[in-house]
Amino acid sequence: MNYPHIQHEDSEIYDAIEGEEKRQREGLELIPSENYVSQAVREAMASALTNKYSEGYPGKRYYGGQEFTDQVERIAIERAKHLFGASHANVQPLGGANANIAAYMALMEPGDTVLGMDLSHGGHLTHGHPVTYISKIFNFVRYKMKDVETGEIDYDALRETALKEKPKVILAGFSAYPRELEWQKIADIAKEVGAYAMADVAHIAGLIAGGSQKNPFDYGFDVMTTTTHKTLRGPRGGMILVNEKTGRGMAAEDAERAETIAKKIDKAVFPGLQGGPHMHQIAAKAIAFREALQPSFKTYAKQVVENAAAMAEVFKAHNVRMLTGGTSNHLILADVFGSLEISGNDAETLLDRAGITLNKNSIADDTRKPMDPSGIRFGTPAMTTRGLGTKESKEIAEIMIEVLQKRDDATVTAAKEKVRLIAEAHPVPESFA
Ligand SMILES: *Cc1c(COP(=O)(O)O)cnc(C)c1O
Repeated sequence: MNYPHIQHEDSEIYDAIEGEEKRQREGLELIPSENYVSQAVREAMASALTNKYSEGYPGKRYYGGQEFTDQVERIAIERAKHLFGASHANVQPLGGANANIAAYMALMEPGDTVLGMDLSHGGHLTHGHPVTYISKIFNFVRYKMKDVETGEIDYDALRETALKEKPKVILAGFSAYPRELEWQKIADIAKEVGAYAMADVAHIAGLIAGGSQKNPFDYGFDVMTTTTHKTLRGPRGGMILVNEKTGRGMAAEDAERAETIAKKIDKAVFPGLQGGPHMHQIAAKAIAFREALQPSFKTYAKQVVENAAAMAEVFKAHNVRMLTGGTSNHLILADVFGSLEISGNDAETLLDRAGITLNKNSIADDTRKPMDPSGIRFGTPAMTTRGLGTKESKEIAEIMIEVLQKRDDATVTAAKEKVRLIAEAHPVPESFA
């Protein structure tokens, strides 16, 4: 993309943007929450829609001049519903964190309890980490894995905790868990204790939309929150979806329940939490949803999972311990301190020097500190968008292992050149239409 006006008027920011574009072009992005969007998505974000105030919802706004913004938001909503089999979609959340807070506000009163995944076992900050403001409003209790070597969740303990704590919401979702959850078991427990079943699919939304991971709505979850910029490959933003096939009553009761939840969600997002929606982002979301509805997105989602499996194979062959023993989705969590005697932080820095970007990450029950933990987390959504397949995935995993084992300047320099050549051969595509 060219930025003639920025270049002409603001060279400081222009240089930084150009630097970032170059970094993204020449390096390999393995942060599992990142991706590359199409030029169409980027054009929408730069459109005149950013100038418009549209507080409210289509047909019910607080300002005039909404002919085209209503059109944009209605299209985004319809595509989102279609993509995830939802009865209702709110596309206004500014990010995944906002989507979660709004969903909590919609489904609970202050002081109510949420039963969510333990943060050190893969859950997310917004699931009630003590540093968040939301943890002071609601009471968060936890479930964990039974066995960190297989990743199996302790569903018996989950049920016992649910019976004891009587949560209003059972929250299933993660940002550092490489396996699929058994959605049905969690939905059944929620039903048994009269809790809402909420799935935060921020990381795996694209895999669900592309059909390579199961859709929690098929197992009776009430609500899904997500980001739109991770595997879903859209603009930075969030979204909340409501299911009407929860199987909690007769079909009519389900529809009524879904409608009640939908109204609460809309009120919680606006005016409960946010001000004016970012209509340029909503237009970009609509474009990304259209891209995700194309048959080629199914191929993409399948390849993301296959690439991650190929990388896990290489790590396994080199006897690197991976949490849960490997991966069934787009991400891998490797215990580099335990296996290669390098801290997560040092591994991140070293690989960055070789042009490979990923992040340090705590592993389950980590004995090291969060700023320098035992693990690294990496994944395949962005590199798969560049068209890399299993052959290149294995090649990259081998490069990573070599760098982490040898650590000398010559190895890092050689790795950086190999990475540059792979990146050069696979430019970021402009279009997925
Ligand atoms: C990324 C993520 C979020 C937060 O999304 P932001 O857009 O960064 O606010 C919430 N939940 C999960 C599970 C995530 O992975």
